[in-house]
Amino acid sequence: MTGKELQEKLTWKFADISKRYPEDVEKADRFCSGYKDFLNRGKTERECVSETVKLLEAAGYRPLDIHREYQAGDKVYEINRGKSVIATTFGTRPLEEGIRMNGAHIDSPRLDLKPNPVFEKNGIAYFKTHYYGGIRKYQWVTIPLSMHGIVYLEDGTKVEICLGEKEGEPVFCMTDLLPHLSAEQNGRKLSEGIKGEELNVIIGSLPYEDSEEIKEAVKLKALVLLHEYYGITEKDFLRAEIELVPTYKAVDIGLDRSLIGAYGQDDRVCAYTALQAEIDVKAPVYTTMTVLADKEEIGSTGNTGLDSDFVLHYVEKLAAVMKVDSRDVLRNSLCLSSDVNAAYDPTFASVYEDRNSCYVNKGCVLTKYTGSRGKSGSNDASAETMAKVIRIMDEAGVCWQTGELGAVDAGGGGTIAKFVAAMDVDVVDLGVPILSMHSPFELSSKLDVYHTYRAFKAFYEAE
Ligand code: MN
Ligand code: MN
Repeated sequence: MTGKELQEKLTWKFADISKRYPEDVEKADRFCSGYKDFLNRGKTERECVSETVKLLEAAGYRPLDIHREYQAGDKVYEINRGKSVIATTFGTRPLEEGIRMNGAHIDSPRLDLKPNPVFEKNGIAYFKTHYYGGIRKYQWVTIPLSMHGIVYLEDGTKVEICLGEKEGEPVFCMTDLLPHLSAEQNGRKLSEGIKGEELNVIIGSLPYEDSEEIKEAVKLKALVLLHEYYGITEKDFLRAEIELVPTYKAVDIGLDRSLIGAYGQDDRVCAYTALQAEIDVKAPVYTTMTVLADKEEIGSTGNTGLDSDFVLHYVEKLAAVMKVDSRDVLRNSLCLSSDVNAAYDPTFASVYEDRNSCYVNKGCVLTKYTGSRGKSGSNDASAETMAKVIRIMDEAGVCWQTGELGAVDAGGGGTIAKFVAAMDVDVVDLGVPILSMHSPFELSSKLDVYHTYRAFKAFYEAE
């Protein structure tokens, strides 16, 4: 053998998608127009559940009914408290041979209103916020924010809020100092450039009209307007979940339109691709389960996050319907914990190890382990699990790559994988490389999004 032939045989490099499949540039662009719509319509976990259920119902899915019998190809779903959702297509193999699961999350970093949020200071009315998930606070000031959420009134009426998304609607904003006066602030560490208690969102600046007689007339004016818009009072914020999110719509980035810029791509990019794969699979061999979960960004806590038993209980229901032991089902199942990874950023190369980073336009990223300080808090998928998933993707001609979450000891993070593993299920992380992850405007590659969809579809269709 020549050196060149030996090199071909013995070494390995991940492919550039556009070189291997030039025709996929256009296919990816088409696929991503639906993805951009999904991002624009679902900016909170609740809105994502509503959008998902619309798509599921349109595709013939119906709520799971444990008193019914199901055949291969039947499609069902179940909503958990309006904030997470699971969809299933029944397979041709017996359920005890395992489920093909795909878990993504639909919560994203944002600013939540504090329970008592409204205040006035020196003629400006504000909302006090508490950030949710890992954000770099300085990135969130001086950008337009819209208000989404729900409020329960005294009488139990539920009011849904979505303000700032439609053309012409008012939006909200946090301020930052001008460079002329930032000498003291410039001396702060970047992580403290904007501090937690400086995340105050402007909601108004005009006083209530007969302001002579009342204190805090600007706050009152804001409350009057909130009451006009939504019928709510200050006390109602105690029965609310209101999130402030970037107003930006999803757009194409670059002269070649190869990238998508949008808020909330972590992890709605995997939610959308998993959902489309779930919908598009017709009569799979293994029964599928597509889980779109809440609360991943704060550790999968709460009863809508993966560190709760709602997924286990769903598997138990499926097992009861099929009259099999749920422990056999779980032990034989294979799961993709579908989450984004940090794409190699040439501008900030030092935090990456270039041989083990994922890159835009090289496909979905298979992440064996996450965690920090020696893989701590990670699932660390087994060689057997890696082998199964790699075989499925290779046989389907999917472009994929591996990636670590940054160089050793550069930082770290976690996903839902360890909670799935705790149910005695084989699991590995797979998702889309993202630039500027957790910023108000994250970037993904259309080709990567499309090949992630292809990976998920192959995973559901494989024998
Ligand atoms: Mn994520
Ligand atoms: Mn995240």
